[in-house]
Amino acid sequence: MTFTVLNPATELPIAELEQAGVEEADAAVAWAKAAYPSWSAVAPGDRARLLRRLATLVEENAEELARIESENVGKPISGARGEIGMVAQVFHFYAGAIDKHVGETIPVAGGVAATFREPLGVVGLIVPWNFPANIASWKLGPALACGNTVVLKPAELTPLSALRLGELCLEAGVPEGVVNVVVGKGSVVGQRLIEHPDVAKIAFTGSTEVGRLVMQGAAGTIKRVTLELGGKSANVIFEDADLERAAAAAPYSVFDNAGQDCCARSRILVQRSVYDRFLGLLIDATRDVKVGDPADEETEMGPLVSAAQRETVASFVDGEPTYRGDIPDAPGYWYPCTVVEASNDDRVAREEVFGPVAAVIPFEDEADAIRISNDTPYGLSGSIWTRDGSRALRVARATEAGVLSVNANTSVRVQTPFGGFKQSGFGRELGMHALDGYSEVKSVFISTEG
Ligand code: NAD
Repeated sequence: MTFTVLNPATELPIAELEQAGVEEADAAVAWAKAAYPSWSAVAPGDRARLLRRLATLVEENAEELARIESENVGKPISGARGEIGMVAQVFHFYAGAIDKHVGETIPVAGGVAATFREPLGVVGLIVPWNFPANIASWKLGPALACGNTVVLKPAELTPLSALRLGELCLEAGVPEGVVNVVVGKGSVVGQRLIEHPDVAKIAFTGSTEVGRLVMQGAAGTIKRVTLELGGKSANVIFEDADLERAAAAAPYSVFDNAGQDCCARSRILVQRSVYDRFLGLLIDATRDVKVGDPADEETEMGPLVSAAQRETVASFVDGEPTYRGDIPDAPGYWYPCTVVEASNDDRVAREEVFGPVAAVIPFEDEADAIRISNDTPYGLSGSIWTRDGSRALRVARATEAGVLSVNANTSVRVQTPFGGFKQSGFGRELGMHALDGYSEVKSVFISTEG
C-alpha cells in the first residue's frame, strides 16, 4: 500500500511512498540484529571515522537536505539550513566522543574492579514530525557511537529527510543493516518496535500521550526507554529585565517552527509592574515576523504541518485574541501569530498548543513567578529574563524543568544535555550525557590474590 506525502505550504503531493507494516518492521529488526555483532566489534576509532564521514556527507548535501526538510515540514529554508547544520555538528560531536566515553578502575578489597560501557543491541528510534532530521540525528549519533544498530521510524507526515539520511549512512560506509529506516504508522510499525523482543531500547520523541504507550508497551520485555515528550514552558520576564531585548527575542521562542516546538515558551509570564509596557513591545515584535512561502529567504514562519494540526491549534483560541497577525491568501495550512492574555488555569496555558499561540500571564513577585512557572504537568525548558544574577540563579534552581536559559531564548546545544522533568519525559539527549542512554555499565572484578 502506498501513501502520499504533502507539502504543507502548497497542499500538493511531493512523494508517494510504500507504507511499511509489521512484516517490514520485523525484517528491519532482523537486519539490525544480524549486523550487531560485527558493528559492535568495530574499533571505536573506526566507528569515529565513519561518523565523521557521515557528518561531512551531510555538509556536502546540506542544501538538498534543507530543501527536503523545508518542503516536507513547511519550515522556512533559512531555519531548515540551520537545522541541517546541527545534524552535521551532532555527527561530528559523537565521532569525537566515542573514545572518550570510558570506564573506571575502582580499587576494592582483594583486587580491582573495572567498568566497561557496553552497547545495548538493536535500538528503536521513533521521531516526530516537527524537527525530523535534527531529532533523528540526536538519536543516531550516540546510538551508533556506542556500537548499537538501529531501526529508525520517522513520523508518517515527514519521512523524507530520514530516508535521505539512511542513504548517506550507506554512502559513508556504515555497513548494511546497521541503520534501517522504516516508514509506517506509529500504531503499527512504532508499536511493533516497542513490543519486539529483539529490540533492547526505544528512544522516543513525541507527545506525552504516546510516551505513555511506549512505557506500557516496553514493560513486557523490560526495554530501556528514553522519552522526550511535550512541554508548556515559561518565558519569565522580571521588571528589571532588558525589556526591549526580551521582547525582541520572545516571538522566536514561541513562533519559531510555527510554534510546533516542544521547547516553545508558550506561556509568557510578565511581572505586573511592566506588564502593559512589555505586552506592547511583544505585539510590535510579533508584527514584524515575516510569514509566507518557506522557500523565500526572508520568511521567518511557514504554515503548520497539516490541516489537522491547524484545526487543533484553532480550537485553543476563543473569541478575539489580543493580537492576530496576517497570513498569506493562498493554499497552505496557515495559522497567524496570535497573542492572548490568559490566566494559568486557562486551557491555552495548560495544554501544549503546538502552534503559534502565545499566552501572556501576569505575576506579582519572584515567588509568584516560580509558582506559576511550575504549575504545569510539564517540565522541559524555559527562559528567565532579569539583570539580577542572584535572582536568575535562584529562579533557575527553583524551576522544575530540564533545560533553561537566562537572558536568552534557546535551549538546544550540541554539547549540553537536553531533556525533561515531570511529564516532559526522562533521559537526556545531546552532549556526553546521551551516551549513557545507549550503553550499559558493566563491572568486572579482577582478583589480585594468588
Ligand atoms: P506523536 O507522539 O504523535 O508521534 C511521535 C512518533 O511516534 C511518530 O513517529 C509516530 O508515528 C509515533 N507513534 C504514534 N503512535 C505510536 C504508537 N502507538 N506506538 C509507537 N509509536 C507511535 O508526536 P508528533 O505529533 O509527531 O510530535 C509532536 C509531539 O512531540 C509534541 O508533543 C512535542 O512536544 C513532542 N516533541 C518533543 C520533543 C522533545 O525533545 N521533548 C521534541 C520534538 C517534539
